[in-house]
Amino acid sequence: MFELDETHQAFESAVRAWCERELAPAVPALERGEALPYPLLRKLGRELGIAEALAATAERRLARLRSGGQARPGSEEPGREGEAGGLGGDPLLTSVLFKELCRVSPGFGMVLMATLGCGMTILARGSAALVERFALPVLRFEKIGAWALTEPEAGSDAFGGMRTTAVREGDGLRLQGRKTFISNAPYADVLAVFARVEREDGEPVARPVVVERGTQGLETGPPLRKMGMHDSPTGDVFLDGCHVPLDHVVGSLESSARARGAAVLETLNLERSVMPSMCLGILERCVEESVRYARDRRQFGRAIGEFQGVAFPLARMALALENARNLVLKLAWAQKHGRLDARLASAAKLYCAEEATRAALAAVQIHGGSGYMADLPLEKLARDAKMFEIGGGTNEIQLQTIARSLLA
Ligand SMILES: Cc1cc2nc3c(=O)[nH]c(=O)nc-3n(C[C@H](O)[C@H](O)[C@H](O)COP(=O)(O)OP(=O)(O)OC[C@H]3O[C@@H](n4cnc5c(N)ncnc54)[C@H](O)[C@@H]3O)c2cc1C
Repeated sequence: MFELDETHQAFESAVRAWCERELAPAVPALERGEALPYPLLRKLGRELGIAEALAATAERRLARLRSGGQARPGSEEPGREGEAGGLGGDPLLTSVLFKELCRVSPGFGMVLMATLGCGMTILARGSAALVERFALPVLRFEKIGAWALTEPEAGSDAFGGMRTTAVREGDGLRLQGRKTFISNAPYADVLAVFARVEREDGEPVARPVVVERGTQGLETGPPLRKMGMHDSPTGDVFLDGCHVPLDHVVGSLESSARARGAAVLETLNLERSVMPSMCLGILERCVEESVRYARDRRQFGRAIGEFQGVAFPLARMALALENARNLVLKLAWAQKHGRLDARLASAAKLYCAEEATRAALAAVQIHGGSGYMADLPLEKLARDAKMFEIGGGTNEIQLQTIARSLLA
């Protein structure tokens, strides 16, 4: 499986045409903060049938939950729909979608990933009531989701250092804590907030808890200023005595010690398996733009591509593109066949993030002064690419995950 089949190619063409028509012209205003990405996100969902496909996945899960089928909310097994990664149960379609969006705007891709991260987290382990009330509207893009794990004092050590608590109070839970760097947080309607949830025996277990905007005790901060991804609002979440019903906890509280944290890692694996396709979009665009420019731009009486100083970085970019594409295809295959593991997800995320960042900077260099100007997409791609070496677990944490898995 080294190339896309006809179905995936047709989808790729449709998304590319949509991005050229709708996304590319909107990016400058989104980047300047003059418009929000959410109306465009809804348009994407509607016009490319994405919302419909995601809703169908959620409906299937709902039907299985209601009929008492496998992956009940009380079990430790996630729903197949969450594992397969959405779009018609075909992870490769999801990869193609993210790749295409990120050729134009990785920031916009991040907006989609954050809302899907919320919807899929609820879908994978939530009860029928949670899926119906929260996952469905999020996956239909009627509501915007956010996925909140990182805290000011707990980033790489998100699980061990987590301070946000959900203690029992009356018939529900009282949430206390703060999350930071959360994509979509300033505008999200539904937040999957990770907290140490108090079990009946008093022991805390880390679980996502669904919190709706408007709930007393929930506040979100304004969009944070950042290096790139200006079209993706990122912000803080403040929980101060925020009361939610007990059944807003996603997944069982009665899990074994070994399964503690599994929900966190599962979602991180999903995030890490989507990010490589986002980086692939950056790589693909950088290679295309750079090859074109290296052929067209003339200095010293010849095309700059004839200089080894330009040709060799191009060759390295093409090599990275080839490897990244193979990794993305393998990841999609592994997801589809239930073979995704932490080592593969981390290896792909690390490689693709490093190479996308390197390629975007090389593309700027090949374009000289024009590459540094904001008129071309490369300046934005270079700023946005760096995020993938940090978000979803830094490069160092991916190395740690790979090494641990090797030495286990
Ligand atoms: C644009 C953006 C969007 C984001 N969106 C979300 C979101 O939607 N939801 C969410 O939950 N989070 C989100 N994040 C947060 C992101 O996942 C964290 O920033 C990331 O996990 C790193 O955590 P930290 O920033 O606290 O860095 P730290 O953990 O403080 O790390 C600082 C440095 O120390 C290194 N380091 C730490 N531990 C080790 C170790 N054991 N070995 C070697 N080196 C180590 C790191 O690699 C890094 O270089 C987002 C971040 C950004 C920038």
